[in-house]
Amino acid sequence: MNLPTTLALIAVVLVPLEFSAAPALSERVKAASAAEYPSLEKLYQELHAHPELSFREEKTAAKIAGELKQLGLEVTTGVGGHGLVGVLRNGAGPVILVRTDLDALPVKEQTGLPFASRTRATNDLGVEVDVMHACGHDVHMTSLVGTARLLTKLKDQWSGTVVFIGQPAEERGSGARAMLKDGLFTRFPKPDYCLALHVNSEMPAGAVALVEGFAMANVDSLDITIRGAGGHGAWPHKTKDPIVLAAQTIMVLQTIISRETDPLDSAVVTVGSIHGGTKHNIIPDEVKLQITVRSFTDEVREKTLAAIQRIVRGQALAAGIPEDRLPLVTIETKEFTPATYNNPELVRRLRPGFDQLFGKQNVVSRKPSMGGEDFSEYGRTADKIPICMFWLGSVEPGRAAESERTGKPLPSLHSSQYHPVPEPTIQSGVAAMTIAVLNLAAPK
Ligand SMILES: [Zn+2]
Ligand SMILES: [Zn+2]
Repeated sequence: MNLPTTLALIAVVLVPLEFSAAPALSERVKAASAAEYPSLEKLYQELHAHPELSFREEKTAAKIAGELKQLGLEVTTGVGGHGLVGVLRNGAGPVILVRTDLDALPVKEQTGLPFASRTRATNDLGVEVDVMHACGHDVHMTSLVGTARLLTKLKDQWSGTVVFIGQPAEERGSGARAMLKDGLFTRFPKPDYCLALHVNSEMPAGAVALVEGFAMANVDSLDITIRGAGGHGAWPHKTKDPIVLAAQTIMVLQTIISRETDPLDSAVVTVGSIHGGTKHNIIPDEVKLQITVRSFTDEVREKTLAAIQRIVRGQALAAGIPEDRLPLVTIETKEFTPATYNNPELVRRLRPGFDQLFGKQNVVSRKPSMGGEDFSEYGRTADKIPICMFWLGSVEPGRAAESERTGKPLPSLHSSQYHPVPEPTIQSGVAAMTIAVLNLAAPK
């Protein structure tokens, strides 16, 4: 036998051996998530029909806690408000945190689904609002429960500890901080990795997307009161008109991105609300603006916020507003969410498992988004724990292809018409999260 033939034979023997173990595991995961699907679909529909607002997730948390308790996990409730923690121990190995959010949004559902939400609730201002899971957190919860079930069944395939958490108030940007403050990393096993998924309203179900590095933005909210000196609309020269000043200020704010920010950095300054005045012929005393600011790095964030304050003040001075009537600027800190930074090495470790589950063509790399997520907080403590949030396709594949072809956008997250297709979205979420944990906690 010559050398090339010998090598070819060795290759024939080695290749199937080397690649056989992992596909068998992904097939097992797929079969197990398919077997769980009928009961997970019921759970999903129940969660979808009974959404709760941020900070009010009492029944939702109890439901998820009950599911995890049934599996024999050590469950603690009331962590950082309605947050819950379920610990699944399976010998020595890494500690992996898997997170779902629990809350829904003040949106009136208009999907026409048979299990659509008809829930109404009173918000913090005492106003009755409709409530809807318009951001897919019901899919996230269902996927987490499915993952816990699969990992309980597949205990022979991994070794370590999984800390499942149900986090309140994601939509208000403060649930993660509340859970951390309440001892998430001290009262429970401290994670070596933190994982989460989020539905995507453009990608077809059955696909996932990974983003290395910055995945979502710093989100700041500013309230600005531009003050002037009101009076009669017929005698503007006797006033300091805050409406004209607000208009000028808004235009100059646009130069922060176009003239002050490095073109290779990314940031957004959007004035989303302007209110002032009551009548045609009255120049009001003040105008109120609300601004959202998005950025990725801490440096760009600080520079952008400083530029806004400088411009707002400078424009007022140029308009002759006296020192004691200069604009008031409040930067909201309670609902600030820092940028989500996906640890690139962790992302690269997850990819092969996803390739095997979904096929390489269904595991895409995606650009960062200017949306915000407080999942970022778990990677920003002094421990600097590597985190990764990946996107889960949720749109019926025919609709996604149609939208791609026609350019007609699909209902986005937070839309009253957003409806993920439960199957295969949920099975994909369960399988993806399960394989991610199995790969990180593979037995030695
Ligand atoms: Zn949302
Ligand atoms: Zn969300």
